[in-house]
Amino acid sequence: MLNEKHAHINLEEEIEKINACVHCGYCLPACPTYLSTGNEGNSPRGRLYLIKDLIRDGKEELEDTAKNYLDNCLGCMACETACPSGVEYTDLLEFARHDREQSKYHKGFWGFIRRQAFKYILPNRLLLNMARISLRVMNFIYKLLPFLPRLVKIQPKLEFEYKKIETDSFYPSLENLDGIDNPEHTVILNLGCVMDTIYNQVHLDTIKVLNAIGYHVYVPSSKCCGALASHSGEHALGEKQKQDFLKKQKTTIDGIPVNKVVFNSAGCGAFIKESEDLDPELELYDIAELLDINNWKAPLPLANFKKKIEVADSRLMSFFGEIDASDEMSVDITYHPACHLSHAQGIRGVYEEILKLMQRVNLKTLYEAEVCCGSAGFYNLIKPDLADDIGKRKAENIQNTEAKFVVTANPGCMSQIEAHLPDDYEVVHPMTLLAAVLT
Ligand code: SF4
Ligand code: SF4
Repeated sequence: MLNEKHAHINLEEEIEKINACVHCGYCLPACPTYLSTGNEGNSPRGRLYLIKDLIRDGKEELEDTAKNYLDNCLGCMACETACPSGVEYTDLLEFARHDREQSKYHKGFWGFIRRQAFKYILPNRLLLNMARISLRVMNFIYKLLPFLPRLVKIQPKLEFEYKKIETDSFYPSLENLDGIDNPEHTVILNLGCVMDTIYNQVHLDTIKVLNAIGYHVYVPSSKCCGALASHSGEHALGEKQKQDFLKKQKTTIDGIPVNKVVFNSAGCGAFIKESEDLDPELELYDIAELLDINNWKAPLPLANFKKKIEVADSRLMSFFGEIDASDEMSVDITYHPACHLSHAQGIRGVYEEILKLMQRVNLKTLYEAEVCCGSAGFYNLIKPDLADDIGKRKAENIQNTEAKFVVTANPGCMSQIEAHLPDDYEVVHPMTLLAAVLT
């Protein structure tokens, strides 16, 4: 059972980690697979028992059912957040899934197709754009023929126009031209793969927001960061893509020192931040963290930000379309925290605070907000039925808030939530909302 990759692992230590579990069950209501199936095998606690069996009994291989329970885990890390005993569930799961690279998802025709997609499509902007056009066509077909299989239904609405963003280029802030040679005021924004393909407008909005708060933005010609391949068990390929990605992160651009790298996809930021071989001069931030760190005081004071929202009120209203700028109506918005933002990076409360600051916005509390939406990289392709059940549960909770406007900060969540909500709902990245009020 334990291959060479794990030969160096101290099994006693792994057992100790499992024994930290006191079986309290606090993790159960946080776990999307348990909530959807009601099956203890699909819960964090149940999976810990299985991992213990794997180690203690020296089994060659787990039974198919047990393996399936482990494979059903989204890796959302909500259980780690919920666990009062600090069980290192993610480490244990990684350890137990060591044979996953040989599992059925990595074999056969679909395994081959997946590998080629990771290897050749994700790092290639031209092929990604062709994939984007195909998605549009598939989406159009689905609208005409809604009874088609679920594979088509996972596509997002794709209403944003694709606008090419020049790479190896600077986008200077007009708010802060004096600081052009100040590394504190310059950030690197990577376009990545999924965000740039299906939600490319979010990048433009992020640049607008960063410029508006006084940052100059540099966009390198980097490709996929490797998170999708790695999270799907293609570790070697993911690692190679990560190394290629990191090579594109510079510390000097045209003689100007730069040390801040900013991410607007929670999944990419979480993945790169956990790298062990980072250039120590680089500072990595999710965009939410950058907003929070500055607390809107520097370079742009919070007071100015509030004032801008007031000035931009009619823009905010026009952003919401049907609401007349002259009336006193408010907009109900709900917020879904992406797991890679809240559980993996521990970034919580920033967007909720910003939404509360906005005039005429009612932030509606989302039940089970911290529970994963079922996206988790390519999980909805690997486990379509379970992903669909989890997505439907999230959509139901959103509908119960009566807010028809959903804000979330990860392209996977945006796509999964959109796919499970009726057409009259809007799902946007917080940068899109902020760009609308800041510019
Ligand atoms: S919350 Fe932690 S200690 Fe409690 S059952 Fe879950 S993993 Fe075990
Ligand atoms: S990582 Fe997510 S899906 Fe997996 S056991 Fe924990 S809460 Fe459940």
